[in-house]
Amino acid sequence: MASVEQVPAAAKNGTNPGIPVENPATGETIATIPTLSTAEVKALVGRARAAQPAWEAIGFEERGKVLRRAQKWVTDNSERIIATIVSETGKTYEDAQLAEIMYAAAAFGFWAKEAPNLLADEPVKSANPLVKGKKLVVRYRPVGVVGVIGPWNFPLTNSFGDCIPALAAGNSVILKPSEVTPLTSLLMAEGLRASGLPEDVFQVATGDGATGAALIDEVDFVMFTGSTKTGKKVMERAAKTLTPVGLELGGKDPMIVLSDADVERAANAAAYYSMNNGGQVCISIERVYVEAPVYDQFVARVTEKVGKLRQGRSSGPGSVDVGAVTFPPQLDIIDSHVRDAVAKGARVLTGGRVADGPGMFYEPTVLVDVDHTMSCMTEETFGPTLPIMKVADADEALRLANDSPYGLQASVWSKDLRRGEALARRVEAGTVCVNDAQVNYTALELPMGGWKTSGLGTRHGAGGIRKYTQQQTLLVTRFAGKRDPHMFPYKKRTTQLLGKLTRLLYGRGKRD
Ligand code: NDP
Repeated sequence: MASVEQVPAAAKNGTNPGIPVENPATGETIATIPTLSTAEVKALVGRARAAQPAWEAIGFEERGKVLRRAQKWVTDNSERIIATIVSETGKTYEDAQLAEIMYAAAAFGFWAKEAPNLLADEPVKSANPLVKGKKLVVRYRPVGVVGVIGPWNFPLTNSFGDCIPALAAGNSVILKPSEVTPLTSLLMAEGLRASGLPEDVFQVATGDGATGAALIDEVDFVMFTGSTKTGKKVMERAAKTLTPVGLELGGKDPMIVLSDADVERAANAAAYYSMNNGGQVCISIERVYVEAPVYDQFVARVTEKVGKLRQGRSSGPGSVDVGAVTFPPQLDIIDSHVRDAVAKGARVLTGGRVADGPGMFYEPTVLVDVDHTMSCMTEETFGPTLPIMKVADADEALRLANDSPYGLQASVWSKDLRRGEALARRVEAGTVCVNDAQVNYTALELPMGGWKTSGLGTRHGAGGIRKYTQQQTLLVTRFAGKRDPHMFPYKKRTTQLLGKLTRLLYGRGKRD
């Protein structure tokens, strides 16, 4: 397991008292990490800036070698990484293996392979006669130093994961992990060192929100993943230095089950994609709308499945299905959503309360008779709860699905693929799955990003790496005379000729 010994030297010199890191499944303190001050963050960024030009200069191939070695390091050290993730998040072995180890291992290889393609110079052809014969090129240059600020729910995938394309593009990176789960990031710093990453190209700034805020002031791009509330603060802070930001924020993903759905598959998916990682997934199914004809059957199947889930501290593969609530205040939010629903007339079909200790657990919960006056249907719960609402038809489901400030993901379930896809296209969300959920995240070729208050920009796909670069346009004139016709001095005849040319080129369109 990672320990305070893995804290970088700069962090050890921190002047602030340390932050205890707890195992949420047991309540034990497993490490203490320092809070970096503003001056210490500045020093970290100074070193990152000094190291970056050489990292950029070695090119894609050499950087790719380091990333491929890191990929191997992740698979060679997977048990150690899983143990660290499980100890600081309280999640299950499987949640750490499937959604974190597999993701990181794939991501190192993907960005090593794709960075040279996605960031290659792009020759451009223009129809404009003024630039005929000239060389036109768009190129992507790393921004310099990228600050990544991450959440606690996936310390490897969502916190560290965004560092990989930033590094592949040729940037130095400073990662500010959540104070709740910093150990995985520190372990990854060790992994990158062991893989031959040059000193100071990747550093971890441990600390709280103030450390994150200090980082924003110093870097050239901020990649933030976390709540919408903090995301707004990040954007506001970055505006002071006009620093660009990428924001991956909260969600309230709706699931729409149509009457012609495969109810058994939909029920299995609802149980899994609402409860995996203890429901602490930005793209968890957070609310369900079911067409009346299959509502009873769907509710019965989901309740049976959720009721059978084994919850507790993970002691290895296959030991439990649902892990702990990682962040202490989250337990109160989850419970308040359930209490609010019950007070307004909802029924709890299974679960519905904080589980007995030790550790922080909320029982996997199914709620029915819910509506949009209840916070469980409108606010991000981020826990193992599933509210299910009966709707008259697909139009009502769509209206309710879109009745949200969030727009991260959604899913539509129907055996009629044409109908399912047509409905999916009307949902206001960055990603919509038909007869599936969440697995889109594993396809790194697919852009992933939220609409509305769920975010700004995308991760994965071309946008997932180009955001860490500055686009530069190059125009090179190879063959030319001493003076082009449009240059000074202006002459009546040339001006008239240019006017004729404009009419010839653009004035022949049909008029209605
Ligand atoms: P928070 O917004 O609370 O924190 C995210 C990060 O920001 C943490 O490292 C936090 O530090 C830091 N931070 C806090 N205040 C500031 C500040 N003023 N300036 C800069 N940084 C700051 O999110 P959570 O950690 O609670 O994560 C859960 C949220 O993340 C959920 O809303 C979830 O939906 C979202 N999420 C979104 C994803 C997506 O892809 N769209 C993926 C995963 C999660 P500290 O923890 O030390 O306070």
